[in-house]
Amino acid sequence: MRIVISGAGVAGPALAYWLLKGNHEIIMVEKAPKFRNGGYIIDFWGLGYDICEKMGLIDEIIKSGYKVKNVIFRNIKGNKTSEFSIKSMHELTKNRFTSLPRGELAQIIYDSVKDKITNIFDDNIEQIIEDENKISLTLKSGKKIDADLLIGADGVHSNVRNQVFGSPENFERDLGYIVAAVETDQFLNLDENIYYSDNEENKSIGLFKLKNGKQLNLFIFTSDLLQGYFPINQNEKLDAIKNVFSNINWEGEKIFSIITEENEIYFDNITQIEMPKWHKGRVALIGDAVGCVSLLAGEGTGLGITEAYILAGELKKAKNDYSLAFENYENHLTNFIKDKQKTARAFATNFVPSNKFEIIFRDIAINMMCIPYVAKLIFKKTLTDDFILPEY
Ligand SMILES: Cc1cc2nc3c(=O)[nH]c(=O)nc-3n(C[C@H](O)[C@H](O)[C@H](O)COP(=O)(O)OP(=O)(O)OC[C@H]3O[C@@H](n4cnc5c(N)ncnc54)[C@H](O)[C@@H]3O)c2cc1C
Repeated sequence: MRIVISGAGVAGPALAYWLLKGNHEIIMVEKAPKFRNGGYIIDFWGLGYDICEKMGLIDEIIKSGYKVKNVIFRNIKGNKTSEFSIKSMHELTKNRFTSLPRGELAQIIYDSVKDKITNIFDDNIEQIIEDENKISLTLKSGKKIDADLLIGADGVHSNVRNQVFGSPENFERDLGYIVAAVETDQFLNLDENIYYSDNEENKSIGLFKLKNGKQLNLFIFTSDLLQGYFPINQNEKLDAIKNVFSNINWEGEKIFSIITEENEIYFDNITQIEMPKWHKGRVALIGDAVGCVSLLAGEGTGLGITEAYILAGELKKAKNDYSLAFENYENHLTNFIKDKQKTARAFATNFVPSNKFEIIFRDIAINMMCIPYVAKLIFKKTLTDDFILPEY
């Protein structure tokens, strides 16, 4: 079949990989002018890890990864208030756990398919018309493509979902937080392989030192601090972060002088996507477009990769009867994803406590995690996937 994938993020290239195994022809349409390799450091384990191993990519992923030792929480003066070791996460995942920048993971997957597919960058699907035999797409550039299937892998604000399934308000659950991630030159004296989280009520900054002289900065805060305003361009995003974090009185000020036009700021509401149906006619959705769990789950990339694997596998199993394959794909995953979303919501106040009492309570809980039993109890639900990966 000729299959168009909208979105070259993480789920889109992973789907291309598995569809190529079925000898399908793949056309990937990406809105950005070039492959986007931004984003913060992510933990990578579970189903996504297992599937990347099947794809022969896990050695490269581990090589790019970091052996994070500890997570240190500090107050806005930069003084440590609590700390926990990542050791129990390694134990719970039987050492099948690594941490790496989202962009490096995306790049490794994309590099494994880019020469075997048709890549269209800087373009966007503007019209979708389906009939009995095909789906006809018109792109913003005027290009027309006839295909057998269209898969929306275009992220949490999916264009395909908006056009085929209706208004985003029907599917978005806004969790009330904003995330902004930006890579800068290293300018703070951070220890290697330590994840820092500096916070006060309703806001936090995550900091991580990379191997290449760069550093990742992650800002999370409650949406009300934007006072109803949502920034669109780079300068507006930077101003918004400055306004919210202006009272952080340690080295934080330096962050704002070091971010330039060159440093793409990823800036978004923290949202989950809940869809009653994952497919319609010749169109299906994967990744954040259909079941965004949000960064609070810490597993968005792995779940996007899992959806890609199952969708391609079901198409193979159903011998390209796409209606049957799409239905089986959805049935396999809906409850599992709903469960992950619920767990993520319960975790929200740990990321950004909303008052001094919650910060103290969080710090006590974090410090108690030096007891392995407690750490395992807290992370078991997040780190173990109650899902058996089918073989196709
Ligand atoms: C640059 C970037 C940085 C990110 N940083 C973080 C982070 O720091 N923390 C975090 O938790 N999550 C981050 N995310 C989201 C995270 O990558 C996803 O939760 C997860 O990887 C699921 O992957 P996905 O492929 O479904 O979506 P994504 O990785 O978001 O990929 C979607 C892709 O679709 C493209 N796209 C969007 N609209 C269109 C359109 N109309 N037509 C064609 N293509 C389109 C996007 O440009 C993107 O390349 C980031 C995403 C991006 C794109």
